[in-house]
Amino acid sequence: MLPEETTNAIAQEYIQLWKEFGVEPQLSRKKLAGRAPKESAPQLKDLEDVRKWLGNCQRCPLCKDRQNIVFGTGNPKAKLMFIGEGPGADEDAQGLPFVGRAGQLLTKIIEAMGYTREDVYIANIVKCRPPLNRTPLPNEVEACSPFLKAQIELVGPRIIVALGLTAASTLTQIPGPISGLRSRFQKLAWNPKVPIMPTYHPAYLLRNPSAKKLVWDDVKQVKDFLEARG
Ligand code: SF4
Repeated sequence: MLPEETTNAIAQEYIQLWKEFGVEPQLSRKKLAGRAPKESAPQLKDLEDVRKWLGNCQRCPLCKDRQNIVFGTGNPKAKLMFIGEGPGADEDAQGLPFVGRAGQLLTKIIEAMGYTREDVYIANIVKCRPPLNRTPLPNEVEACSPFLKAQIELVGPRIIVALGLTAASTLTQIPGPISGLRSRFQKLAWNPKVPIMPTYHPAYLLRNPSAKKLVWDDVKQVKDFLEARG
């Protein structure tokens, strides 16, 4: 059996290769499904407890190069949550999610829906910046998932917008591509009562502005969903 560092390096080469061909890499359903956290969660009454549980986290290799853990921000009882892939350079520097160029675009999307950033809750699949903004590896997603799961449970959103393939496939445990997942409601894998709307990541929109219309179509459905439920 290969050492974990070697398998991670092979997986990373695979991901980068597909990215060079303009294809979003697909995380394996087998690897995403049925992963129980290795440590049991303590009693958590609010998001502050989750942050304390996370501590100075060193549960995966992403801790090595980070400047700050990017925990999540916004209304702790938001009806609407946005979940992206992981922090970039600006987010790592400030310790806040979606504050760079992609974040500014996300703010515009939220405002176009009739909300503010303070109305919603924003988080990522992993809380530390992957080197060179690469896609997080399955073992990194697995290590960070218990904390995101706790955040989702405590915020209790009526609906989640998954930004990009990593978020969409992790939350639904359905492999991509994102073009096949978006535009209709999916289900949160571990709580099917929570609908997920997968859509393109704002960073993708910066490179492909023509996809903005598709994202608007997706978030308009989310807006209508929330308005119909008061
Ligand atoms: S990515 Fe998550 S699990 Fe990994 S070190 Fe950061 S906070 Fe811990």
